Amino acid sequence: MSTSERPAPRPSILEISAYVPGRSHAPGVAKVHKLSSNESPLGPSPKAIEAFRALATSLEFYPDGSATALREAIGRQYGLDPSRIICGTGSDELISLLAQAYLTPGDEAIYTTHGFLVYRIATLAAHGVPVIAKETSYTADVDAIIGAISPRTRIVFLANPNNPTGTYIPYSEVRRLQAALPPHALLVLDAAYAEYVRRNDYEAGIELVATTENVVMLRTFSKIHGLAALRIGWMYGPEHVIDTINRIRPAFNVNAAAIATGVAAIADTAHVERAVTHNEKWLAWLTQQLTALGLEVTPSVGNFILIHFPAEQGKTAKDADEFLLKGGLVLRALSAYHLPNALRMTVGTEEANRLVVSALSEFLGREARRG
Ligand SMILES: *Cc1c(COP(=O)(O)O)cnc(C)c1O
Repeated sequence: MSTSERPAPRPSILEISAYVPGRSHAPGVAKVHKLSSNESPLGPSPKAIEAFRALATSLEFYPDGSATALREAIGRQYGLDPSRIICGTGSDELISLLAQAYLTPGDEAIYTTHGFLVYRIATLAAHGVPVIAKETSYTADVDAIIGAISPRTRIVFLANPNNPTGTYIPYSEVRRLQAALPPHALLVLDAAYAEYVRRNDYEAGIELVATTENVVMLRTFSKIHGLAALRIGWMYGPEHVIDTINRIRPAFNVNAAAIATGVAAIADTAHVERAVTHNEKWLAWLTQQLTALGLEVTPSVGNFILIHFPAEQGKTAKDADEFLLKGGLVLRALSAYHLPNALRMTVGTEEANRLVVSALSEFLGREARRG
């Protein structure tokens, strides 16, 4: 049957490789430690779980289509005007809606070499043209992004910190980028990991959103709040962008369980603090231990690390991945990110972190350092 005899999608859609999420199983292993999708090893706040359970008695009702309670809770937490917040089915949905709203066919969206893969998918799905700006030492390079700007640039996607590299750029660099953008180009600051960052020169971008007309900031409940299953993301933006996205978003995009659970989660600041403290400790420990094994680890400010394997010494990421899987340790392979010799590891529970270090020590044929 020729393809003209059946419905055909727009041509650019066939250029898209479907997103492949991190693996969640290790065949034949009783206990699995999933360290492949940057999920929280602490899980959600007990109060969030309670709020989720309570919703079971009112499932027949449509949710509030504008997620008012959740926007107000976010506004209270960050001191933001709720009318300039919009919630999404994960920040993934907001990325797609932004691309749909601001790209006409042939318009360009810039992101960096190892930028989050969803930017490419959203751009192509909206008939846009992905433009890749080179990184320096696995880090976004503002001069390279500025150099990639053309008359057709309409969006710049910047994950800060970036996934899968874990690196960040200081706020002064984000401001320099915004100042160099043409006013009709939208800067999308994806701050999915902002809560984990412990650096004085870092800002998620709230002030830049508040003081300009072409910057939005994306946040998520999937990482620090441990609610990836519920798909809750949000955006803070200028009034005109919020108005635009409200016109095209699905009417009930955030479900009632997500709204109720999100409200409880964001109020539990003690739980968020526990997650940050856990991460700070084990991120440093993992980085130090893996470096001591002779592995190169890209310095990370997120809740995950990028581990590079010495393929030239016959120790490939692929072999390491298979070795770890046998012990129930599921990391993230990164060939889709053009990092075939690296694995991304989420900072896990103490047990999982220690198991990975001893397994990698065994894989590399060395003794684990005590600590
Ligand atoms: C995990 C992640 C998100 C969050 O996605 P959700 O759809 O909110 O789960 C967004 N951006 C980056 C860079 C991420 O790593």
